[in-house]
Amino acid sequence: MELKLDQLSAHEKAELERNIFFATLEQVKGWARGNSLWPLTFGLACCAIEMMAVGSSHYDVDRFGSFFRTSPRQSDVMIVSGTVTKKMAPILRRLYDQMPEPKWVIAMGSCATAGGPYVKSYSVVKGVDQIVPVDVYIPGCPPNPAALIYGINKLKEKIAYEAKTGKKVM
Ligand code: SF4
Repeated sequence: MELKLDQLSAHEKAELERNIFFATLEQVKGWARGNSLWPLTFGLACCAIEMMAVGSSHYDVDRFGSFFRTSPRQSDVMIVSGTVTKKMAPILRRLYDQMPEPKWVIAMGSCATAGGPYVKSYSVVKGVDQIVPVDVYIPGCPPNPAALIYGINKLKEKIAYEAKTGKKVM
């Protein structure tokens, strides 16, 4: 039976608008990726305790589709939480390289974003963005778990925006 839109009642048109969605394949992929971020834990210092707390029942980050993984092969977002030393930097880079594309990085806390209280130390990297590209920076020493959840949601928005516009946001 042929469907003629101009013969539909107002109620039928409203029902159609409510039940039919138009999207590009990229938008659907962006939606799926943003809602199933699997973080690779990269806890390096005190900030890691706050990161671990988001997986607890109180903050329950699982409800946003995020499940912590211990293998880079199963992860698409690296959460760097803590002080990145120069000795640790090549290991961090190797694990990042082992993650499949597409992948993202969250720098959690002052140390990961810019060296934090150790900014004058000879042994500390002044921001993990010197080693891997960072998508979201979360300030604080340490940021609390709610701030990390906020950062994860910001990353979701970024992924959805990039999928919709085709533009890479740096
Ligand atoms: S930002 Fe502060 S809380 Fe986080 S790892 Fe550095 S010193 Fe520790």
